[in-house]
Amino acid sequence: MRDNDWTRVLAWPGYRVWRQEINEEAKTLRLWVRRKRGNKKLVCSGCGRSVKDIHEIYEREVRDLPCFQFRTTVVIELYRLRCPDCGVKAERVAQLPSKAPFSKRFEEAVGEACESAPVRQVARRMALAASTVRAIDKRVLERWSAQRRQLPLRHLGVDELYLGRKQKFVTVASNLESGEPLWLGEDRTEETLDQFFGEQLTPWRRKRIEAACVDMWEPFTKSILGWASQCRIVFDKFHVMQHANAAIDEVRRAEFFRKGGRMRGLVKGKRWLLLTRWMNLDTGKQQMLNRLFALNRRLMKAYLLKESLDRLWTYRSAAAMRRYRDQWIRQLRWQRLKPFQKLAELLLRHWEGIENYCHVPVRFGVVEAINGNLKALLRRGRGYRDLQYLLLKAQKMAVQKTEFIVLQKAA
Ligand SMILES: [Zn+2]
Repeated sequence: MRDNDWTRVLAWPGYRVWRQEINEEAKTLRLWVRRKRGNKKLVCSGCGRSVKDIHEIYEREVRDLPCFQFRTTVVIELYRLRCPDCGVKAERVAQLPSKAPFSKRFEEAVGEACESAPVRQVARRMALAASTVRAIDKRVLERWSAQRRQLPLRHLGVDELYLGRKQKFVTVASNLESGEPLWLGEDRTEETLDQFFGEQLTPWRRKRIEAACVDMWEPFTKSILGWASQCRIVFDKFHVMQHANAAIDEVRRAEFFRKGGRMRGLVKGKRWLLLTRWMNLDTGKQQMLNRLFALNRRLMKAYLLKESLDRLWTYRSAAAMRRYRDQWIRQLRWQRLKPFQKLAELLLRHWEGIENYCHVPVRFGVVEAINGNLKALLRRGRGYRDLQYLLLKAQKMAVQKTEFIVLQKAA
């Protein structure tokens, strides 16, 4: 093959191959390239202006995509420039996005492989160190992120995620409308979230936030209202329902211990059934619950209370919501269901944030979905010490999922 053919196969715009070396034993291919005659515009990598003054010529070797079975590297002739603004600087070359010894398209191939396989596996396949693969993947994601348009932030989601014994908690801030995480911060204190508002959002952007969907965790609410006083706090329905699930579980356990013998056998193993919504149970499971309820009215009452609480979020006016709440609480009378009494108190104590949903119906479930993605990534990657990397991965995941849904709709 002539150099001319290699130039066409390599297809680096503006560059031509002038020397080649094939090592059949080691299965390696090396190509030397330099600028084509017409491609003489040199750009400073520091400031992006075009510079004519050449300081020196040097070579760099980078790994590129393989050619059949041959691992391919490209030795590229480069210029160091004397920029009037930056001093002596390397020129900017599209195929060399970083100082690392890899071409842009090689890095992109690694990044793509990392989307569907764990880092270790990609590293083995490409004969690279796992840390190198991680660094490449992060750079690819950073470049992807840098060219994205910033979306408006009207509905903010804030939640916490437990990472494990070492790192404990991280705070996750997300955009509920675009369905993607915006920021991860260590710990879950008021100061943690302060960092997000102070460092990540301009005052203009802070003022545009209409609502924040949060858990009933006070440090977060305090921080939000401190930075964006116009923002309405909406308590996440899922967290309220979690309290309802905890209440029914407490009733179940109390009944289990209160009644002996036959009843104990009946209640045993029904935890999951009681926590599942009626409409999600098949007929057989519904019958199982019915048999249980026939023998234990108290459990039935508790289950109905839990099931009916969900309707609270279907009302579009504050008055209707309040009416339904009071009606729900009235049903508790004479029931002696302590855990539900406590739940009622919790509702009343946090009422404003629950009621706000009818003013700003934020997308519930987004926060949970994002947390789910983060957990999946953590399981697959076996711990991310680099939170920024984890965030970028989760953002890519979120964006691709939306694209997938859009495609499905179109089909
Ligand atoms: Zn410059």
